Amino acid sequence: MDDVEQELDLLTRRYGDLGIEAEVRSIRDARQRHRLEMDRLNEDFDRIVERRRATLEAIEKLDRTLRALIDDVVGSTRRQRNEGWSPVPVLGFRAWVVEDGRLHGAWEMWPLPRSTATCKRSPDADEVPHTDGRCGPPPCGLYALKRADDLLDVTGWHGARVAIGLVEMSGKVVEHTKGYRAEHMEVIALGVVDPRGVLLIDAPEHLQAAFGGGFDELDGVLPTLQPIETMCFWLEARKERMSWTSENKSA
Ligand SMILES: [Zn+2]
Repeated sequence: MDDVEQELDLLTRRYGDLGIEAEVRSIRDARQRHRLEMDRLNEDFDRIVERRRATLEAIEKLDRTLRALIDDVVGSTRRQRNEGWSPVPVLGFRAWVVEDGRLHGAWEMWPLPRSTATCKRSPDADEVPHTDGRCGPPPCGLYALKRADDLLDVTGWHGARVAIGLVEMSGKVVEHTKGYRAEHMEVIALGVVDPRGVLLIDAPEHLQAAFGGGFDELDGVLPTLQPIETMCFWLEARKERMSWTSENKSA
């Protein structure tokens, strides 16, 4: 009861009905009914909030269950079908030719230190690199070799300015005798032949700059008369250290 109602009650006790008693009573009754209705609505509202929370939780739980189920079956199917789908990144080596300050792979220029394979034959982006013979030769995928030294035999870039990188492959990775075809590739260390020797870089921002066309600005050239051998040796050592670290991480 607020101040004016108390005031009215006081004056009514003192002087009798002021002429609005019946109306005041009926308004108060109506107000009381609405207050009870409000209590019921608040209880309903609390129940709905609780049901909403429980439903949301159930949806999220089902999402997680579905994802885990699919991940499991997709992973085991790919392993059974010998697709070589790798849950952990695979390390390998690949080469680029430097032209006009940019790094060119076998098919196209790499503007970034990472790439995802596409298939030129099959518009279906799924399952790249393909293992069912629908494309090639050579079949699609980003290629890398297991040993850096093997790049010396397969590339026809003698005399060209060459870059060799240690790459991390993920997604679908198909294993071949000497190397791999991968869905995703990320360059994690790079050696570039330089007139003064060899430039060795592995900091992400330096790799970004090198692929972005700015590697002439990078310093840290190692003078050497055998640039290819020097970078192969350095990259192989990086790979060994990385394999050792990841084995220890997972142990
Ligand atoms: Zn293909």
